[in-house]
Amino acid sequence: MNNYALAIHGGAGTILKSTMTPEKELAYKTGLQDAIEAGESILKSGGSAFDAVETAIIKLENNPLFNAGKGAVFTNNGTHEMDASIMNGKDLMAGAVAGVQGVKNPIALARAVMEQSEHVLLTGNGAMEFAKKVNAPFENEEYFFVQLRYDQLQQAKQSNSMILDHTEDKIEHGEKKFGTVGCVALDLNGNLAAGTSTGGMTNKKFGRVGDSSIIGAGTYANNNTCAISCTGHGELFIRSVVAYDISCLMEYKNLSLKEACDIVVMDKLVKIGGEGGLIALDAKGNIVLPFNSDGMYRASKKQNEDIFIGIYK
Ligand code: ASP
Repeated sequence: MNNYALAIHGGAGTILKSTMTPEKELAYKTGLQDAIEAGESILKSGGSAFDAVETAIIKLENNPLFNAGKGAVFTNNGTHEMDASIMNGKDLMAGAVAGVQGVKNPIALARAVMEQSEHVLLTGNGAMEFAKKVNAPFENEEYFFVQLRYDQLQQAKQSNSMILDHTEDKIEHGEKKFGTVGCVALDLNGNLAAGTSTGGMTNKKFGRVGDSSIIGAGTYANNNTCAISCTGHGELFIRSVVAYDISCLMEYKNLSLKEACDIVVMDKLVKIGGEGGLIALDAKGNIVLPFNSDGMYRASKKQNEDIFIGIYK
């Protein structure tokens, strides 16, 4: 039997201690702690990595501090369009949704796409039609309205830019941060899984879809290599096929998880201006949490070890 392990993220970006109040820091840490404990309780009792990933992400989606589910950022039209994906490392099964509105937990819908449809990725109206068919819970606009996010949209519109959640140099409120959430897990049977969920970027237009719902870019899991969930400037993460690139470096070049992450996050992404980070876990239970931004909300837990929670560099 393996030891279990898991890691989560709540977004990367310019997260500086100087702009953080003790209350805010505590709220983020508590949110991360709740989510990692929820995931761990599944793994501890012999549950699957896949279930742990979904459970931890639902906790983060229900927390308005993070840019996913409740707390998702506003699009240019003043709506919320959410992206999510989940993948099982055992059989490479995956499900994803993009541009869904009103769905309470996009990660659960991504799972339903995997388990209850013959497809991998459903988008927009089709995804919502499918959500109704599988009785996915919906919430109204009020549920998704968060004042800070609304203020962010007004400021993004003024500068006519698409903004990553909490961009300090363009947004008065808070820090520059990509508030997407994700989880990677390894269960007692040695199976890996990964998932990611996001509201995307403030002021995004034209049905823009980021990396979070793209298998291989924002999310990837393969029992032979690793499980990865990304956060950062989605366009650059798609172009770099980040999650799969790390798996490939391990599979074809026999690099360690750490070596592969260093190349992709600290070198390849940096060279094209791809700010952000990721959480990575390999089949032996090694965890790496690299980011090339100033900070990343992150937490990890290995069996028989204390929970680690980090925010800054
Ligand atoms: N990667 C996400 C996107 O581009 C943003 C984030 O990580 O916060 O949609």
